[in-house]
Amino acid sequence: MSPTEILEYDKKHVWHPYTSMINPLPVYEVVSASGVKLKLRDGRELVDGMSSWWAAVHGYNHPELNKAATNQLSKMSHVMFGGITHEPAVELAKKLVELTPNGLDKVFLADSGSIAVEVSVKMAVQYWFSKGRASKNKLLTVRNGYHGDTFKAMSVCDPVNGMHSIFTGSMPINFFANQPEIRFNNNWNSEDISSLKKLLEENKEEIAAVIIEPIVQGAGGMWFYSAEYLNELRELCNANEVLLIFDEIATGFGRTGKMFAVEHTNIVPDIMCVGKALTGGYMTLSATIASTDIAETISKGSPGVFMHGPTFMGNPLACAVANASLNLLSNSNWKSTVNRIEGILNTELSVLKNSDNVQDVRVLGAIGVVELKTAVDMAKIQKEFVDRGVWVRPFGKLVYLMPPFVISDDELLQLTKAVVDIVEGGLY
Ligand SMILES: *Cc1c(COP(=O)(O)O)cnc(C)c1O
Repeated sequence: MSPTEILEYDKKHVWHPYTSMINPLPVYEVVSASGVKLKLRDGRELVDGMSSWWAAVHGYNHPELNKAATNQLSKMSHVMFGGITHEPAVELAKKLVELTPNGLDKVFLADSGSIAVEVSVKMAVQYWFSKGRASKNKLLTVRNGYHGDTFKAMSVCDPVNGMHSIFTGSMPINFFANQPEIRFNNNWNSEDISSLKKLLEENKEEIAAVIIEPIVQGAGGMWFYSAEYLNELRELCNANEVLLIFDEIATGFGRTGKMFAVEHTNIVPDIMCVGKALTGGYMTLSATIASTDIAETISKGSPGVFMHGPTFMGNPLACAVANASLNLLSNSNWKSTVNRIEGILNTELSVLKNSDNVQDVRVLGAIGVVELKTAVDMAKIQKEFVDRGVWVRPFGKLVYLMPPFVISDDELLQLTKAVVDIVEGGLY
């Protein structure tokens, strides 16, 4: 197909994320990607500011990850996980048990972030079922969260801006507390968690678990909140016999300056979900990691097994790449890299605090967020970014950067300069 034919066929027949099939916004054809650059069909190269949605932390076309994939391909790309095991999956489980906080010991390998969330919820519900408390089958969460696009995950996304209000009628009803308002590292006041506390105490007989994105609320608003919220949340969950699920799908693997965002707190959740950067952005893979108590309670109850098992569970190819990606991370100086990125984002984006177009600027780890006063025109701003040789994909009022960790200072400055120019110029 010619480049024009590809775009024409795409426009007529291919669904993209959250896109109209009668009036689709323009898409750009990428032909290859290497390091932090995406190469377009017309030869232009764009510095990637998105890590392909949090995932490509080591950049694209990485020799070590390519090697891991090729090596595994020559052995087997997939084999069923029922009744069979293999080294890539066991090695990955071992790495995850070691990397995550003490107490998270039982690893369920799943195929995407949304499925990891589904699995975590099923574990929580089956846990209470096994204890003879089947009425505890709902979830409590906070507003402005994002946990994925499948039905149960969607039911704990923000009920208003969660992009899913159409489906309200066919979704399970859950409980929504106010969004945590106190910012990361600001002075704590327990008032911030009072809305959640009230819902928890009043409905604990119906609630299986609280599910929350620790420290950073991602796609629901790119908001960074106090670690004390989570420390108090753990106590409230304990006092009210409710499980605690951390969704670290976006925050995991160094992005916030810690290996996992939970390390900003003093606590450990009962269940944790990881995904996105797990394979360095190469393949879809996720994991739900639970405490021994969760796993054993489920297994002691009826029917004595956890009721989930997808076809591509533990996919060896994805596990092999994930192992190589985690090795790369462990052998790198990712902490000082993320600190360096944080410093540049802070210095360069903070000039926008004085712009009339800007509501707020916030930076944490390798995440820089500019919150505008009005929503962007996506087609317009996307073209402005591409014309400046960068790839940035805002949503609503949020323009944000979360570059691959391997980005150089100069490339990062190209990204921040594009954001500053476009925002100050009102070019959206
Ligand atoms: C992206 C995301 C998900 C969903 O992951 P998918 O792989 O897109 O299904 C869930 N939770 C959080 C916090 C995410 O950022």
